[in-house]
Amino acid sequence: MSIATDVIHAKRYVDPTTGSHVTPIYQTSTFILPDFDEAVRLNQNIDQGFVYSRFGNPSVREFEEKIAYLEKTEDALGTASGLGAISTAVMSLIKQGDHIIFGDVIYGCTFALFTKILPSFGVEYSIVDTTDTEAIEKAIKPNTTLVYVETPANPTLKISDIQEISTMLKKYEKIKLVVDSTFASPYLQNAVELGADVVVHSATKYISGHGNVTAGVIASSKEIIDRCRMPFLQCFGAVLDPFGAWQLVNGLKTLAVRMDKHCENAMKVAKFLESHPMVDKVYYPGLPDNPGYEVAKKQMKGFGGMMSVDIKGGIDAVRTVMNNVKVFSLATSLGNVDSLIQHSPSMSHFDMTPEQRHAVSIFDGQVRLSIGIEDADDLIADIDQALNLIKK
Ligand SMILES: *Cc1c(COP(=O)(O)O)cnc(C)c1O
Repeated sequence: MSIATDVIHAKRYVDPTTGSHVTPIYQTSTFILPDFDEAVRLNQNIDQGFVYSRFGNPSVREFEEKIAYLEKTEDALGTASGLGAISTAVMSLIKQGDHIIFGDVIYGCTFALFTKILPSFGVEYSIVDTTDTEAIEKAIKPNTTLVYVETPANPTLKISDIQEISTMLKKYEKIKLVVDSTFASPYLQNAVELGADVVVHSATKYISGHGNVTAGVIASSKEIIDRCRMPFLQCFGAVLDPFGAWQLVNGLKTLAVRMDKHCENAMKVAKFLESHPMVDKVYYPGLPDNPGYEVAKKQMKGFGGMMSVDIKGGIDAVRTVMNNVKVFSLATSLGNVDSLIQHSPSMSHFDMTPEQRHAVSIFDGQVRLSIGIEDADDLIADIDQALNLIKK
C-alpha cells in the first residue's frame, strides 16, 4: 500500500487480551517466564520472546518492526537517542586498527565521536567531501572498513549520492556504508534501498515529530541488527524505553502528512529568503541552483523541511533575528511540528573548530531553520519582520 497508509497500519500490534485500539505501553523491566526450560531457551535466544527490557520489549519491538517496514530493511533496532544508534551501529562494524571515512559536514556530536573518542581505541579516520564519490575512493586505505555519510547533511544540507557511493564501494567488499538519514526521515529517503548497508536516524526529529522524545533507530540486514542488539546495545545499554517507543509509534502515524507539509512550507520560505535583501545565501536542496538539487531530486521524494541561511551582518545580525522571531522558537533540535531557529556554529556544531567550520561553509552569520507545519505565510512574515530589524 501507499506509505501514507503504511505509516499508520503496517506492523501494528493489537493487544490480544483487550483489543486496545492504541498499543498499550508495556512499562515493565522484566517478563514472567512460563517455566524453567523455556526460561533457559529464551535467555539463550533459542526461542524468540521477551525476557528483560534491555534485550527487548513489546512497545519497542512494535516501533522497530514499523521502521524496518518503512525503510524496507530486514530488521531495525530502537535506541535511547540518535547518538545511541550511531555509536552502536558504528562500534559494531569496526575494530581496533581500522580506518573510517566520514563526511566533512555531519552532526557535531557524531564528529566528536569520530575525532575525539574512536582514535583513543585505535581507529584512524579521514574526513572527505562525500558529495564527491571520487574523493571517497581516493581516501580508501587497505584497513578502511566504514564510510559514514549524512545526507542531507546537518547543517548545510549537502547532498551525497547514496547509490553512486554504494556502487563504488561494491569493489571493496569489506567496507560498509552507513547513512544518517535523519533530515530525510523514512518518508523521503530509503538509504538501504539505494545501496547503503545501514541507515541510522535520530528519531528525536521527524520520526517523533513533536519534540517530546529523545530516541534513535538503526535499520539494516538481520545479521547486522542482531549484532547491534547483542552484544553491542545489550552492553552499551542505550536502549529505547517503552514510553518513548509508544510516543514514536504515535508520531509515525502522521509522518506522511507532516513531511508533505514540511516540504511545501520549506520551499516557500526558501524562495522568499533567497530574494530577501538581508540574506546572503540560502542552503536548501530544493532550490534549482543548489549543488545538491539533481541528486536530491533523484534519491528523495521531497526536499525536506530544513535549511540554513547566511544573514548579512554576521553574528550581530544573527542575534537580532534570533531574539526577535515570535513564531519560530530559539531552540536546537529539528523536525518538530513547530518551527525552530538555531545558530549552528555555537550550538549543534560547537564541537568543530572555527577553521573546520569555515572550511565547510558553516559561517558565524548562519542560522539553521527547521520549518514546521504552521501556515507558511505566518512563518514568512515572522522571519521577515525579524530580518528587517537588523541595523543596516
Ligand atoms: C540530532 C541529530 C543526531 C543526534 O540525535 P540525538 O537524538 O540528539 O542523539 C544525529 N544526526 C543528525 C543528523 C541529527 O540532526
